[in-house]
Amino acid sequence: MGTGPEQQRREAAEQRFQLGRLAVKEGRMAEAREYLFRAVEIDQEHSDARLWLSATTTDAAEQKKFLEWALAANPANPEARRGLAIVQGRLNPQDVLPPGTDVAARLPTEPEAAAAKQVFICPQCGGAMRFDPHLIDLKCERCGHVRVVEEKPAKDVEQALDLTLPTEKAHRWAEAERRMVCQQCSATTMFPVGQTSVECPFCGSAVFIAAREDADILPPQAVIPMGFEAEEVKTIMRKWLGAGLLAPDDLGRLARGGNLRPAYVPFWVFETTLTRKWQAYVAEGSGRNRRWVWQSGEHIFFFTGELQRGTKILSADLLERIEPFDLEKLVEYQPEYLAGWPAATYDISLAQASLDAREKMVKKAKKQLQHKAAPGKEVRDLQVSASDFGGVTYKQALLPVWVGAYHYRGKWYRLLVNGQTGKISGDKPIDSVKVALLILAAVIVIIILAFLIAFLFGPTPSP
Ligand SMILES: [Zn+2]
Ligand SMILES: [Zn+2]
Repeated sequence: MGTGPEQQRREAAEQRFQLGRLAVKEGRMAEAREYLFRAVEIDQEHSDARLWLSATTTDAAEQKKFLEWALAANPANPEARRGLAIVQGRLNPQDVLPPGTDVAARLPTEPEAAAAKQVFICPQCGGAMRFDPHLIDLKCERCGHVRVVEEKPAKDVEQALDLTLPTEKAHRWAEAERRMVCQQCSATTMFPVGQTSVECPFCGSAVFIAAREDADILPPQAVIPMGFEAEEVKTIMRKWLGAGLLAPDDLGRLARGGNLRPAYVPFWVFETTLTRKWQAYVAEGSGRNRRWVWQSGEHIFFFTGELQRGTKILSADLLERIEPFDLEKLVEYQPEYLAGWPAATYDISLAQASLDAREKMVKKAKKQLQHKAAPGKEVRDLQVSASDFGGVTYKQALLPVWVGAYHYRGKWYRLLVNGQTGKISGDKPIDSVKVALLILAAVIVIIILAFLIAFLFGPTPSP
């Protein structure tokens, strides 16, 4: 694999391909066809050369043939899949944005139908219904009437990234009536319809400006229902404040504020396969016969739930510290889960998140190859070359988080609680006296050890 003549052949094909592509861009179509056909002749697997051939003709049938040809060579080729979808009429070319542009805000064409807005009103007394974390159903806050929310497992909700990414989908969360932007921290939050007093879940401010109604947002596909009530999360926080070796003793007693606010936080979840080719010295044989052999191969990695945060409001570091979320428990998104609970909307685009996720997966795969390239054998000078992603799917998932802050001796500290598992993490003050004592103890131990070593192994007095 990867030998000289093979490499040369690929390079020759690539060279013809680049010339052909340039010719297409400059409108020299006959010349372009010649180069591209030559590239395919040299390298049957050159999917992009076949893809670009489809640009040299205006004949739909011929375009289709070239695109199918490109997909046969590489079934994951995103441009070929997109192109074929357009040729087959599954995708409107006007919806396709040029690569590199982000999904832009759409100008309002007609007022949204007011009927699309959903309010959860109790059929018995007319009161507001709220999603109850323990019942996992809607419950009337006034009379206690319960409406069952039918739970649907979140399977088949994955979206193909190639088809979503280039289109400006006019999706809206029709049920989200009140999207508001916090004036203090600029988080965009959707508040349940009918809720009268609102506070930003991230900073507590009550000053909002109306969100731009014309901005399109992709809807969520999945959600992990909120699992705790405020009282339970407060107990978790109090316990956490009282624990910790280096925390001040009076922290649990003196910490004030402790306001915890619930929020569904948007995440992008990606699924894909990644094929990585590697070359390395592998230790063969043992003892005296042990020798290093130059080997190569490839390994396929399966990523089933790559989590990427959807909002910049919460730091990636703090969010990672309350992971993992049990993604097996994801259910299909229904607006009922948001009744009574605010949800943040994403401000990190799908395009950006998918790039970040790819980078993360490439790094993870490289790290794992150290062990997986040649299982059970020692590996040296590992080189990882091409990385080839299979079809990428995504879903937008709303995950439950409690955002908190507490006040201790003139300073605010931030904390997060995982609304599914109750895992808590946050910043804590450190007792400087305790730290000083610990350092002192360490210094004393080192001095004693030094004396002991000098005494036991020191130079013996010369005769
Ligand atoms: Zn009621
Ligand atoms: Zn805010």
